[in-house]
Amino acid sequence: MKEYDVIVVGSGPGGATVAREMSRRGKKVLLTERGGRWNWLGNTLSVAMILQNAGLTVSRSFHPITQVTIANNYGGASTVMCGCAIPPPRKVFDAVGIDLSAEAEEARQELWVTTLPDELVGLANLRLMDAANDLGYHWEKLEKFIKAEKCIPECSDCMMGCNRGAKWSARFSGDDAITHGAELALNTRVDDIIVENGTCSGVKGSRNGKSFSYYGKRVVLSSGIGNVRILQRAGIQEAGRTFAVDFLQFVGGVSPYLNTSKAQPMAVGTLEHYETDGIVVLPVFPTWSQLAVLLAMKGVQHLPKARNAFRYTGLMVKIQDDLDGTIHPGNRFFPFTKIPSRNDRLKLAKGADIMKRVLRKVGVSEASIVELNPSGAHPCATCRIGDVVDTKLETSIKNLYCCDASVVPASLGLPVVWTIVALGKRLAKHLETTMM
Ligand SMILES: Cc1cc2nc3c(=O)[nH]c(=O)nc-3n(C[C@H](O)[C@H](O)[C@H](O)COP(=O)(O)OP(=O)(O)OC[C@H]3O[C@@H](n4cnc5c(N)ncnc54)[C@H](O)[C@@H]3O)c2cc1C
Repeated sequence: MKEYDVIVVGSGPGGATVAREMSRRGKKVLLTERGGRWNWLGNTLSVAMILQNAGLTVSRSFHPITQVTIANNYGGASTVMCGCAIPPPRKVFDAVGIDLSAEAEEARQELWVTTLPDELVGLANLRLMDAANDLGYHWEKLEKFIKAEKCIPECSDCMMGCNRGAKWSARFSGDDAITHGAELALNTRVDDIIVENGTCSGVKGSRNGKSFSYYGKRVVLSSGIGNVRILQRAGIQEAGRTFAVDFLQFVGGVSPYLNTSKAQPMAVGTLEHYETDGIVVLPVFPTWSQLAVLLAMKGVQHLPKARNAFRYTGLMVKIQDDLDGTIHPGNRFFPFTKIPSRNDRLKLAKGADIMKRVLRKVGVSEASIVELNPSGAHPCATCRIGDVVDTKLETSIKNLYCCDASVVPASLGLPVVWTIVALGKRLAKHLETTMM
């Protein structure tokens, strides 16, 4: 049995940031991660190895089949993210009285936030941007978590895990924490917290079939939807009663003039509909393997469309979805129930309409247009601020905190990483003051 200052459960952007910040402050930190460390990145196999159920995690309700991406590996979902950098949205955090602007600015350099030069943004993206602007939408280049000097033109591998080290992932923060003395425990699943006199004093779980207990002065749960099981077992039944996924929908088609199969994902786009309608439109389309799976989920009769996988020009709408989903703790294959509400469908339809206009403008033929089922890549809002945690991210059990996408008070409807890292930095400042 070992004792730590801080035990962090889960090594995604939330957990890795807290581990980095606290180890840099001289605290003895343990970072536990349920998955291993898959290092052969940049290929289809890497997606299958990093994601829970090889990416085939779906809602318990099957109409329509709703897939949500959940990661189980060192770095969490950030290893396979697109690297699109959007700062924390004020409208979501103003509602709970939290200002993340200082922490977001601190994170800018650490996350390698940059606007890419035209040759890395790529011709296909630039032409889509021109077409959208001709239609009166206000598209622009978007910032990315990328080191331009390591990135190469005509590469769209971000979502398969960048093997050049050009895209930031939470592994860089986890590794930095280790450099500053943190211990990383891979293949280590936390199942329970230890509570003594109403105060959290450690965690229990298993590694390779053997059980363990670790003691810590503070415990931070950063295990995504995994937090729900741990909290419910500790008696916090409110956890997991809400669930958002930032529903997204891909629309693509074939144009004789360009395709986005080798375009940098989400390097241009527009947030102009975000404040009013809660939607964003960005160019990105599934890789061939993801496309095959998503077409099969739409219906096997759509599978032949996968033959155009390397010819599609594709866009995505992402929305702020309603909170009406539920988590089923401990169920590995169907860990949630979530389908788009009527409100969600209206937002997705509005985005699909915008996307089709842009696609037609770049010469996509009507007959080739394919609309995939709504899916989710941002499981969040299961342990919301104001509901399960307070504004300091502490639960009703003293010294037990949550810090990851689960705490957002509402669906962001935007890329999440910058927000989570800012929350991690803010929590670290608070923990430091409570541990002096
Ligand atoms: C395909 C894709 C593209 C994306 N693109 C972008 C983008 O361009 N920009 C952006 O900002 N965001 C993007 N995102 C979203 C972003 O990656 C996630 O929102 C973010 O990684 C969530 O971070 P997190 O800290 O909440 O948890 P996660 O990244 O989900 O990490 C949680 C970790 O906890 C571990 N864990 C779970 N249970 C336990 C347990 N019991 N014990 C120990 N460990 C446990 C898991 O294995 C996992 O590693 C994308 C996501 C996907 C899937």
